[in-house]
Amino acid sequence: MPKQKIKEKKPKRKAAAEAPEKKFKIYALLRGMHDVLPREEKYWKLLYHTAENLAEHFQFSRIETPLLEEANLFIRSIGKGTDVVDKEMYIFEDRDGNKVALRPEETASAARAYIMHGMWNMSQPVKLWYWGPMFRYDRPQAGRYRQFNQAGYETLGDGDPSADAELILVAHNFYKDLGLPVEIHINSIGVPEERQRYKTALVEYYRGKRSYLCDDCKQRLNKNPLRLLDCKQERCQPVKEDAPQIIDWLEEESKNHFTKVLEYLDELAVPYILRSTLVRGLDYYTRTVFEVYPVVGDTETPTYVGGQQSALGGGGRYDLLVQEMGGKPAPAAGFSLGIERSVSALKQYMDANQIKPPIQKFDAYLAQLGDHARRRALKAINELRNSGLKIDYNFSKNSLKSQLEAANSLQVPYALILGQKEVQDGTIIIRDMESGVQEIVDQKKVENVLKKKLSWFDDDKKK
Ligand code: AMP
Repeated sequence: MPKQKIKEKKPKRKAAAEAPEKKFKIYALLRGMHDVLPREEKYWKLLYHTAENLAEHFQFSRIETPLLEEANLFIRSIGKGTDVVDKEMYIFEDRDGNKVALRPEETASAARAYIMHGMWNMSQPVKLWYWGPMFRYDRPQAGRYRQFNQAGYETLGDGDPSADAELILVAHNFYKDLGLPVEIHINSIGVPEERQRYKTALVEYYRGKRSYLCDDCKQRLNKNPLRLLDCKQERCQPVKEDAPQIIDWLEEESKNHFTKVLEYLDELAVPYILRSTLVRGLDYYTRTVFEVYPVVGDTETPTYVGGQQSALGGGGRYDLLVQEMGGKPAPAAGFSLGIERSVSALKQYMDANQIKPPIQKFDAYLAQLGDHARRRALKAINELRNSGLKIDYNFSKNSLKSQLEAANSLQVPYALILGQKEVQDGTIIIRDMESGVQEIVDQKKVENVLKKKLSWFDDDKKK
């Protein structure tokens, strides 16, 4: 086609007028999504290290599973009729028409991986831990996001009550290590046959009281009767208080299992609260279930902030999940902790008790004055870093005063000062931040002098 015949489309006037606006559109977040900003990093790091240290100590190995899985994996394991599956899953078709879902939790994925990679052939139990984002199309509100993070621990291939107790101990230690007071609520919801018999009794009891119930509970009565026990509405409380308790429907084996878990916890001095209305929202649980709540008030007279929304974490035993997913029967148990809620509870607690947030510790702050010095400074920082020293700096600050102020607020013990003169002389100034005493040293010797001052050589090892 000859060139001149190509007709260029004239931009519509309206579109042209809108163009600059479009170019500068400031995008907002999707509803229920949030950024984790640098100012939060210290808390997130602290939680991550705590979770990782516990995993190492109790020998859980890290597993990472995809964010996207076949939707049926979650529908079958978590169960139809649960809020997570019926209302909260991000479900869609991919370009090939496969029904996929963003994972709403990770237990089902861990069980899938256990089966798929033949982990039942390994020495049992297989202990896995994870940390990562989960997705639930929930109604956003305080502490409830559509993308949030969980840390979780799963023990697969072990039906002994000691496995339940070990997991509860890890949850307890997680918050103990963070210094955040929590309460652990525990219950047993038995095996499916026991639970079925209990549900029948519960429905029978509630049917007789239908006219006293809130609208939600009237629906729960038909759809998911165990959730009747979760109701927070004032008008339903008297009915709930007199409802039959699941513990009375447990057979010998389930009762024994629960008693042993509690005995272990007593032995470990892990405090817990028996809560007969605790049922958890997902279908796959059997026997032990537990949840962790932050404690408000002083430790003498603690009161827990009850309710679904304030739980920091939860979990339980799921002995039938692996076999229901087509694997060789493998009893299992696990739990997960919400990171956003834990960070927020920790911050609230620290604020209320005037505890300072953790700060990253540096060995020294390098202050530079002028272009030459800045160039030499970057090299020096890299050399000191290679020798294991942690040096902070800020090249956007030019005055010595502002750099020393920064060093002060970071509470570093020493500042290293590099000006034009020092660059020419091949020296550097070491300033003791507490006493203000300064010393000029050869640049080649700064590493050793600093390490000596930091007492790195005292016990013949690095800090
Ligand atoms: P679950 O298995 O649903 O009990 O979730 C375990 C923990 O994950 C909860 O106790 C919360 O701390 C956290 N969590 C669950 N759903 C959300 C959400 N929508 N937003 C933030 N955190 C959540």
